[in-house]
Amino acid sequence: MTQRTYDVLIIGSGASGATAARQLTRKGIHCLMLDAGPGLDYSRHRELKKVYTLPYRGFGTPGRFPHVTQADEYTENVWADEKQNPYTYPKDDPYYWVRIRLIGGKTNFWGRASWRLSNYEFKGKDHDGFGENWPIEYDDLAPYYDQVEPMLRVAGRREGFPQLPDGIFIEDTSPDSEPVQRFINAAQKRGVPTTKSRVATGQRASSVNRILPDALETGKLQIVSNAVVRQITTDRNTGLANGVLFIDTRSKQEFHVKARIVIVGASTLESTRLLLNSGLANSSGVLGHYLFDQFYVKNVVSCIVPGARGSGGGYIPRFRNLAKKEKDFIRGYAMDFGGGGSPSPEHLPLYGEDLFKKMEELQGTGFSLTTMGEVLPRRENFVAINKSVTDAWGIPALHITAKYSQNEFAMAKDSMNTAAEICHDAGFQILEKHWQMVPPGESIHELGTCRMGADPKTSVLNKWNQTHDIKNLFVVDGSSFVSGGSQNPTLTVCALSMRASDYIAAQMQKGDL
Ligand SMILES: Cc1cc2nc3c(=O)[nH]c(=O)nc-3n(C[C@H](O)[C@H](O)[C@H](O)COP(=O)(O)OP(=O)(O)OC[C@H]3O[C@@H](n4cnc5c(N)ncnc54)[C@H](O)[C@@H]3O)c2cc1C
Repeated sequence: MTQRTYDVLIIGSGASGATAARQLTRKGIHCLMLDAGPGLDYSRHRELKKVYTLPYRGFGTPGRFPHVTQADEYTENVWADEKQNPYTYPKDDPYYWVRIRLIGGKTNFWGRASWRLSNYEFKGKDHDGFGENWPIEYDDLAPYYDQVEPMLRVAGRREGFPQLPDGIFIEDTSPDSEPVQRFINAAQKRGVPTTKSRVATGQRASSVNRILPDALETGKLQIVSNAVVRQITTDRNTGLANGVLFIDTRSKQEFHVKARIVIVGASTLESTRLLLNSGLANSSGVLGHYLFDQFYVKNVVSCIVPGARGSGGGYIPRFRNLAKKEKDFIRGYAMDFGGGGSPSPEHLPLYGEDLFKKMEELQGTGFSLTTMGEVLPRRENFVAINKSVTDAWGIPALHITAKYSQNEFAMAKDSMNTAAEICHDAGFQILEKHWQMVPPGESIHELGTCRMGADPKTSVLNKWNQTHDIKNLFVVDGSSFVSGGSQNPTLTVCALSMRASDYIAAQMQKGDL
């Protein structure tokens, strides 16, 4: 393997890397894919252990995953080991970095919510003067969204919302239950739009079962697992990327593999870490900066609705600041809503036998909303290399600095008040409301740090996800985002990666790459 020069080398097999591999191999281009993780053995016989047989009753080994609130004792083997893969942050500002090092990356466990961005994001600066516009607009990406939705089999309902463009969906015609309908009516009276959730369907709809198989079928994709890339190498004479150095996690041996084109899709912060560690693509000084994500307020309002049992739910797309600035913040937030769970016992002023009885009576009557708000991309939120901390393979770790600003705080409060008003109007009994945001990172939608832009002085990538500095080096994941709205980002990650891959194929054909 080390003697050959591959056409295209792709780092990462998650949403971004797999989409690039699928697009390129289907055009006849040979690709080598390196991924730090092993593959999941789906054919293994698995049986869910009884919770009382587990040492920590399912909650997880204390201290094993301090930053992964999703981790429990059943999934401990899934998340990237935080001791093997350390990172740091300022003492009082923790960053929750959730990583999965497996073939397929985080798509093995994602929630599959799949929304398009709109020109409210791509042209955000034109709208409210903040930050930068993307170097592309909605119409540039729409043909790729059109391909990604069928690839992931996204189901949803067409609504005609300008802030949440419709797509090529499996039409969701399921009726709304009575309590959900009551909620929707109350929302509409306040000018708050709602729709059905849009989710990728099928068994998990991951990169492993919906994206990589098409690439492998062409016979033009070779995947090497357990391969941690530590550096992108360049040709001393041309300055072009000529391959990568990677470490085999089992033998700990290092290899150099050569390629004509390098595509980085190792996930937002890993891609930027790799570029920083390689000392590449940073003539602008912007690499690492403009880190953002989406803030979540989980259960911003929790209610009891007696008829809520099995009632389903839906989604409130962004509705603030669309036609004009209407609040003490810019941009906006979305909310998930749904019923059917049980209210949390902490909201009931009872204990002992009485609490047990009440909980039994209220089973399935919970109804709650979760806010997902846009975090502004700001230069002072950034990642840098912490030279004094290295991972299990000796690769310098990241130091992550991220704080919310007044804009996000104001948005979170507004979402609480709005959600409470709608629930009140719908006749729901409100148990609790709050606007406590999860720490930065916990939404698992980390974005930016290697952003696109028309100006090489203020961006790392051009509109084709190609580094301004090195023409055969591309970065195709969420690090390329300029802003992120409140929509979950993976659909856009895949669309960008597909678009960049079409460009690469066309340039290769012309002999320009
Ligand atoms: C629990 C959970 C729920 C989520 N829900 C949603 C949702 O509902 N909707 C949504 O849009 N998004 C959701 N996400 C986020 C979504 O999974 C990511 O946006 C998406 O997977 C990003 O794709 P990626 O290719 O950038 O990164 P990943 O999917 O993380 O893939 C990156 C790959 O690169 C590999 N890698 C990393 N570093 C190196 C290296 N140095 N060398 C070699 N390989 C490397 C990793 O092993 C990994 O396989 C969720 C994520 C999680 C974990």
